[in-house]
Amino acid sequence: MPEIDVADAKQRIADEVRRLHPRLIEMSHTIHQNPEILFEEHKAAELLTNELDEQGFTVERGVAGLDTAFVATYGSGKPVVAFLAEYDALPKIGHACGHNLIATWGVGAGIAFRRALPDFEGTIKVIGTPGEEGGGGKVIMANAHIFDGLDAAIMMHPRDHTYLDRGSLARTVFNIEFFGKSAHASSAPERGISALDAMLHVFFSINAFRQHMPPNTRIHGVINHGGEAANVVPDYTDARFLVRAKEQEDLELLRQRFRNIVEAAALATGCSMKIHEGISYESRVCNSALVETFGENVTALGLGYDEPPAGGGVGSSDIGNVSRIVPTIHPYLQICDPGVGGHTPEFEQAAGSARADDLTATGAQLLAWTAADVMFRPELRERLRDTFREQLGYEPRSNA
Ligand SMILES: [Zn+2]
Ligand SMILES: [Zn+2]
Repeated sequence: MPEIDVADAKQRIADEVRRLHPRLIEMSHTIHQNPEILFEEHKAAELLTNELDEQGFTVERGVAGLDTAFVATYGSGKPVVAFLAEYDALPKIGHACGHNLIATWGVGAGIAFRRALPDFEGTIKVIGTPGEEGGGGKVIMANAHIFDGLDAAIMMHPRDHTYLDRGSLARTVFNIEFFGKSAHASSAPERGISALDAMLHVFFSINAFRQHMPPNTRIHGVINHGGEAANVVPDYTDARFLVRAKEQEDLELLRQRFRNIVEAAALATGCSMKIHEGISYESRVCNSALVETFGENVTALGLGYDEPPAGGGVGSSDIGNVSRIVPTIHPYLQICDPGVGGHTPEFEQAAGSARADDLTATGAQLLAWTAADVMFRPELRERLRDTFREQLGYEPRSNA
């Protein structure tokens, strides 16, 4: 096998991306116009896996027990670089998080890489990770060891700014229920036990706690069931809460405090209760050496980037869990004017706009170039591992 020159590899990738551009726009539009929510992304998964199949990838569908998850593989042996694709939409507002672009960039990068360099030494994977918006697809896949042994996991998210790195909050989710006793609210209130009072206690106690919560933490929730009629003492209420923190140990503190608040509310009102904790997202630790490499590619393409603000403006994502297993990046590419926030109708429009269409090629190229750096520069792979160890204090997970 002839030695592959990185600059030459990047030129070939750029040429392939240019050829693929019309198809990338079609893919992005098809997903954008057919929004499917978490774990129901059947059309998107079919489109993407068929595309990868036709391009010579070996495709495994339905991995980790998730119908719409997939792993597409080309090549064999080490090194192994993966592009991650998300393709779930939000209920009611469609692709307002722009995951149609994440899918297009990831799949486009994989295909461009393979077409540009059909006989490289190593493995390229495109990993389809469904249910990011609350389903924790990557957490389930991480538990099934799908990301083990990767030299790098690469993905990118659309946004109103280009950022090389932006932290995220660790996050857990609670569903809570209170069970009381119904009674006529006027003629026999003394016979009732109000499940609504218990729920209100929870909100009051959280609001009292809020003043004393550590910085960079959040608790927010909604009541799903608050009662049926004003003249009946509510015998059942349920709510869903998200609990978030920048630091893992703060999340532990909030988690325990939240449980205490719910138990106290039940005790105070005479209700019984149930707490169900769902899948937790860990906070993101992007590999700084890989971030730097990605940044060099952004600059080489003549693009600028912004420094993210010091505080606020962050959510949570299941890529956090992946970032704690193998060297990972999750940068952002600007697709719209600053100020257009994610999860809004305006961002949904931006994700299908002509500006985003233009960027389908740029995004795929950035990801594929970064993969080329990892694939063809052994000293960089060494640096990614050293950096991972420094940042997290343990080795990346291998598949040995
Ligand atoms: Zn989102
Ligand atoms: Zn998103």
